[in-house]
Amino acid sequence: MKLKRQLLGLFYASALGAVLIGTVAVYQILTPAVSDFEDDAARRELARVESAFLQTFTTLYARTRDWAEMHRVDALVTGESDVVPMVPGEAPDNLRLDRVVIFSPAGEPTMLRGDAGPQDPTLVDLYATYAERGCYPLWGVVSLNQKNYIFAMHPVADCGAALFAIALDGQMAMELSGVTGLDVSLQSAQADAPRKSHIVAIDDVTLSASFPVLDYQQRSVMRGQVTLEREIYQRGAPLIWSVVLAVIVVAFLTSTLVYWFVQRQVFGRLTILHQAVRRIAQGGDLKQRIRVRGSDELAELAADFNAMVDHINDAQQSLAQASERAEAANRAKSLFLANMSHEIRTPMTAILGYTELMENPSLSAEERQRYLSIIQQNGDALMALISDVLDLSRIEAGQVRVDRQPCELPALMKDVLNSHLLRAKQKDIRLSLQYMTAVPAEVLTDAFRLRQILSNLIGNAIKFTENGGVDVRVQWEDGLQSVLHVEIADTGIGIPEAALPNVFEPFSQVDESHTRRFGGSGLGLAIARQLSRSLGGNISVSSKVGEGSAFQLHIQTLAADNSKRVQPEQALAAEMKSQRLPAIRATGRVLVVDDNQVNRLLVMRVLSQSGFVVAEADNGVKALERFTEEDDFDLIVLDMQMPIMDGFDAAAELRTRGFTGPILALTANVMAEDRRRCLEAGCDEFLGKPIRARHLLDACVRMMNRSPISTRRA
Ligand code: ADP
Repeated sequence: MKLKRQLLGLFYASALGAVLIGTVAVYQILTPAVSDFEDDAARRELARVESAFLQTFTTLYARTRDWAEMHRVDALVTGESDVVPMVPGEAPDNLRLDRVVIFSPAGEPTMLRGDAGPQDPTLVDLYATYAERGCYPLWGVVSLNQKNYIFAMHPVADCGAALFAIALDGQMAMELSGVTGLDVSLQSAQADAPRKSHIVAIDDVTLSASFPVLDYQQRSVMRGQVTLEREIYQRGAPLIWSVVLAVIVVAFLTSTLVYWFVQRQVFGRLTILHQAVRRIAQGGDLKQRIRVRGSDELAELAADFNAMVDHINDAQQSLAQASERAEAANRAKSLFLANMSHEIRTPMTAILGYTELMENPSLSAEERQRYLSIIQQNGDALMALISDVLDLSRIEAGQVRVDRQPCELPALMKDVLNSHLLRAKQKDIRLSLQYMTAVPAEVLTDAFRLRQILSNLIGNAIKFTENGGVDVRVQWEDGLQSVLHVEIADTGIGIPEAALPNVFEPFSQVDESHTRRFGGSGLGLAIARQLSRSLGGNISVSSKVGEGSAFQLHIQTLAADNSKRVQPEQALAAEMKSQRLPAIRATGRVLVVDDNQVNRLLVMRVLSQSGFVVAEADNGVKALERFTEEDDFDLIVLDMQMPIMDGFDAAAELRTRGFTGPILALTANVMAEDRRRCLEAGCDEFLGKPIRARHLLDACVRMMNRSPISTRRA
C-alpha cells in the first residue's frame, strides 16, 4: 500500500478514535451534568409542593385554634350551662372540612362533622397521643376509616380538644396543583414504602417526583407525586448531540485539513522530487533543478538533490572532458608516432645513405668530409629527438632533479644565442640579445636545464620565423626571491588564439602541416615548461597569427654569493669562461671493455687517435684476466651491459683485486638510478650512450688529470 494511502487511513482512523473518545467523554461529562440539573430542578419543584402541603397544615391549625378558642366550643366541651353550646354539626363553613371532632377532657370524641362513630379506634389512639404529649396542639396526617386526612388538634378547656381534618383526596391534590401550578397527585402507600423523596424519568418527556407523606406516628401512608416536564433534558439532549456532532465535524475537518497540508507540503513536494529522480534514473536531463521552497527537511532534500545533480553533472562533464582529453592524447600520440617515424627515418635515411656513399673508394677527401658532416648532423638531430623523448618520460616520472650551481648568466645567454646564430643567418633573420636591466654576473641555477629551456624557445622562434627576427630580452628582478625574466619575441607565423592553451601539452602541434614544413616532435614546449617549473618558474605565451609570438620565461633564482651586478653593455661582452677546454694530456694505458665490437672499436679509435695506448676485452671476465696479466692500466673504460660478467660486477671485482685507477662507465641507461648503481659498483664517472668522441675524450683526460691518489682506491 502506498505511503499516501496509509497516512490517509491513519489520519481518518485517528480522527475516528478521537471522535469516539470525545463522544464518550462528552456523554460521560454532559449527561450526568444534565441529569444533575434535572434532579435539582425536580427537587426544587418537589420542595415547593411539600411546602404548599405543609402550608395546608399551618392554615388548618390556625383555623382549628381560632375555632377552638371560641367560648361556645369551650362550653360544648365542658358542658357549661350559661353558654349556648355549639350544636353538634355546627362547624365553620368557610372551611372545606371533612371532619370536625371535639374531645371532652376525658377523651370522649364528639363528631361534629364526618361519619366515623365515637368508637373509632384511630380517634382514641390519636387522643391518647395528644394526652401523652401533655395536651399540646398536635397536627399531622391520620387515617380514619382507611382514608387519609390532614388534621390539627387544639386544646379546649382542660385537656379537651377540637380537631379539624381535611381528606387527602383529589380535591386536596387539585388545591396543591392550584397553589404550585404543578400537576400534583396524592397516592396511598404501603407502610414500608421508602421514606425519601424519589425522582424517576418516565420517558423522554416526563419525570415523576414524589415525597413521602407520614402520619402522626411517622408511618408512611401516602406519597405526594408531581409529574414534571423534562425541560432541561429536552434542552440538554440536543445540546449533547450538537457537541458530539461538533466534535465529529471538527475531528474530520482537522483530519482533512492536516491531510491536505501533508499532501501539499510533503507528498506534493515528494512527488516532484520523485519525478525528478526518476527522470535522472531514466537518463534524463541533468540540467533540471528543483525549486527549493522554505527551509524544512524537504527543502534541504531538494537542495541536496540539486547539489547531487550538480555533482553528477560536473562529474559527467569532467568524464566527458577526460575522455575527450584521452582521445586527444591518443590522437596526439598516434600523430606523434607518425611524426616520430618521419623524424627518425629522415636522419636515418641520410645517415645510412651517406654511409653507403662513403664506401665508394673514389670519393675525394672533400666529398668524404662533406658526407661525414651530413652524417654527423643527422646523427645529432636523431640524438636530440631521443633526448627529448627521454627527457619527457623522465619529467613525467618525476625523475628530473635540478642541480643549482653558480652559473655565469651573461656568458650562458651569449653561448645559447651563439649556438643559434648560424641557423638565423641561414634563414636571413635577426637574432638579438638585449639586457633590460643590470644582471648578476653569477646566478644560482641549473645551467644545463636553463640552457635547454632557452635553446628550445629560441630554436622554435627561429624555426617559425621567415622574416624579421627574434629578440631575446633579459631582465633581473631583485627581491626576497629574485626572478630572472627572459622574453623570446619573434615576428614569425604566430599561434592561433584557440591553440594557445594547448601548445604546452606534450605531442601538440598547432598544425599538423607544421611537422612536414618545420619538423619537430611537439615535445619541446612541454619539456621547457616542466623544466621551468622545476626551476621554480613558468613559461607563458602571447601570440597573434601572422604577427609573431612572445614567450615569457621566468625562474626564481638567487644571485651567487658576492656576485657583482653587470650592466647591459658588459653583459653583452661576456664570454663563457667554462668554455675553455682543458689541455689534453693524451698519454697513458687504457683498457676498453665492451661486448659490442663496433662501439669498442669506436672508443679505441678515438682514444688511440688522441695518443692513448689502448687494450681491449669483450666482457667482464676477460677484463679481469687482462688486468691480472698486466696491471699497469691508468684508466678502464667499462661498458655496463655485457654478457657473462656485466660492468657492475666487473668494476666491483676490479676494485677488490686492487685496481685503484679511474673507471669510466658507459651505459645506454641514463636514468639517475643507473648513475647511482655505476658509482656504487666502483666507477668514477658515467657517460651515456651514444658516445660522442669529444665527450669521451674530455672525460678520459679529466679523469687522468685528477690526482691518482685521490681517485684510486687502495
Ligand atoms: P615542436 O617540436 O613541434 O616545435 P614544441 O612543443 O616546441 O614542438 O612546439 C609545439 C607547437 O607550438 C609547434 O609545433 C608550433 O605549432 C607551436 N609553436 C611553438 N613555438 C612557436 C613560435 N615561436 N611561433 C609559432 N608557433 C610556435
